[in-house]
Amino acid sequence: MSLQLDQAPGRFERVELCPACAGSHLRPWRKGNFDVTRLDKDQIKITDSEYGKIWDLSVCADCGHIFADPSPKPEFIFSLYRQVEDPAYDAEAEGRAHNFRGILDNLDALVPERGRLFDVGAATGILLDLARGRGWTPDGIEASAWAVDFARRTRGLPLRQGYFEEARTEPASCRAVTMIDFIEHTPKPREAVARAYDLLAPGGVICLVTPDIHSLAARLAGKRWWHLRPGHLAYFSKRSLAALLAGAGFTIIRRKRYAWTFSAHYLLTRIGAFRPLVRGRRTALFFKRISIKLALGDSFEIYARKEPRT
Ligand SMILES: [Zn+2]
Repeated sequence: MSLQLDQAPGRFERVELCPACAGSHLRPWRKGNFDVTRLDKDQIKITDSEYGKIWDLSVCADCGHIFADPSPKPEFIFSLYRQVEDPAYDAEAEGRAHNFRGILDNLDALVPERGRLFDVGAATGILLDLARGRGWTPDGIEASAWAVDFARRTRGLPLRQGYFEEARTEPASCRAVTMIDFIEHTPKPREAVARAYDLLAPGGVICLVTPDIHSLAARLAGKRWWHLRPGHLAYFSKRSLAALLAGAGFTIIRRKRYAWTFSAHYLLTRIGAFRPLVRGRRTALFFKRISIKLALGDSFEIYARKEPRT
């Protein structure tokens, strides 16, 4: 189902330059398969399980980046994220914390001195809470008003509500910036990475996690790949992610594959056929206690440094 721009005036726009490398050689890649004019806040939440749904996608001939085109205008997509409520996200806090500890281990090793750590798209503050426990000063931003309230109330975190691309932040005030599963949700990744660069002190490090469209899992799963979903406006590859970071002035210093940890309960509830299994309260509790590490390696975990100016 292709979107005609006049169907939804003011909410979508054509993409003129590649959102990753700013190149101008763009061509259609794949037709979308859901009605983006009816996109709502529940389709874009983190735990949404409407896999296989894609926007009309274009590809950049210069860097291979794949992205929604037409793209939602920032003010439209931001207004949806502001309304997102996702209690299922924090119910998996333990599994998520397990993933985030690995990231903090890397940042501890790569950043010479701890200071302010800014988490972009901080959700309910699980990563910032852990970072604070390791001596970082937590800071961050999240669009969902519900998640910000949750993080403040339950974790006492000074999270800001808003959109990173428009937030007022102090230049060179942070030693680390994290963007965990954020960059694929924004229509303006170049602007977001440029802001992160501005926010970092020289020598500071950004950690970025995002799905890899060319991963083995993506190719095997094909049209059913779990990262093909309404909230994802872009699909990065090694090349386009490198172009994005280099364009902002970053030097990549470490590349890894990201392994997810979830409870068996979470995974089973994502797969329609297994849902009856986990309906009972007691069986649900049983499955919640089993944690499963998904070493699918279908996401990048990349660290890049803002080089001190010479
Ligand atoms: Zn490009």
